[in-house]
Amino acid sequence: MTLQVRGIVLPEREERTFWTDGDRLRTEPVPGAQLVVDGGWLLPGLVDVHTHPGTEALDTPFTDETLRRHLTEHRDAGVLAVRTPGSAARIPAWVDEDPELPRVRSAGRWLATPGRFFPGFGRDVSEADLVRAAVEEAEASSGWCKVIADWRHDEPPLPADVLAAVVEAVHAVGGRVAAHCQTADGSRNAVLAGVDSLEHGMHLDPGLIDRMAAQGTAFVPTLSAFAAGVDRRRAEEPSARRDWWLSGWESLLPTVTAAYEAGVTVLAGTDSFPCGTVTSEIHWLIRAGLPARAALGAASWGARSWLGLPGLVDGGPADLVVYDADPIADPSVLAHPRRIVLRGRVVV
Ligand SMILES: [Zn+2]
Repeated sequence: MTLQVRGIVLPEREERTFWTDGDRLRTEPVPGAQLVVDGGWLLPGLVDVHTHPGTEALDTPFTDETLRRHLTEHRDAGVLAVRTPGSAARIPAWVDEDPELPRVRSAGRWLATPGRFFPGFGRDVSEADLVRAAVEEAEASSGWCKVIADWRHDEPPLPADVLAAVVEAVHAVGGRVAAHCQTADGSRNAVLAGVDSLEHGMHLDPGLIDRMAAQGTAFVPTLSAFAAGVDRRRAEEPSARRDWWLSGWESLLPTVTAAYEAGVTVLAGTDSFPCGTVTSEIHWLIRAGLPARAALGAASWGARSWLGLPGLVDGGPADLVVYDADPIADPSVLAHPRRIVLRGRVVV
């Protein structure tokens, strides 16, 4: 069925009318359309660029059923595109063909070298085999791979030269590299290696921010995931690990703002369950100091563009979410999408 949609498009704040033509948007009338949206504010869907659908816990298997449930939770919250930076199993091909599910850009399995990550949860690989494995994961998924670039605060991160070789080889096949970093040394090595996205970035040295901006390393700080653990950490017995974590959290918010102000692409990722909570990451990005428009863009049009998905334009994907009020002026409306259109079909 062809749909007609009229409303104020963000981020341009312009009133536009679209018609759907299959899973594409058109700005010229398509005959026989049914008017399904007449007024309201239109976003090209929300985006969560750091989510791990399919498995919720280390001791539960990755299943198609869990994957579908998680992706449906995202969709019902208006999240119409996700990136999965690492999974316990590669995202199966049927996901792309299911019109009910968000668009997924995946990075294959987490790439974990010895001592880094939960043993057996990702793809365990030696440092010597990492380049080959990274190219394999990128080629077998949506072009991304995900490297665990550090782990414990008191153990060395993946060496910068090993990570640089990964970046060079993955870029050579047209892929991109996401790096998990939560230590100062790991974050430094990832930036020096030229990764495409720094995930978490706890303890990131602000002195590296200009280099990130210049080379196009995006920053996905997953603030809401850390925020959920602050009270628990504070209640722990004092230890080097606790102090390391809390000092990392305290410096993260100002570092995110400094990165944004320096021109780094800051993006919204939740890294947590339940799925469909990217609005809490928007809230935290605003709390960190991003303007509301930038925080929303980090979880919508900006993230889609970064993933290669056009926004609300002629020929773009027919994905949109409708709100009763302007979500830049009042982000709380994001909790109540009035209508969700995905791939040219009304899903909510
Ligand atoms: Zn993660």
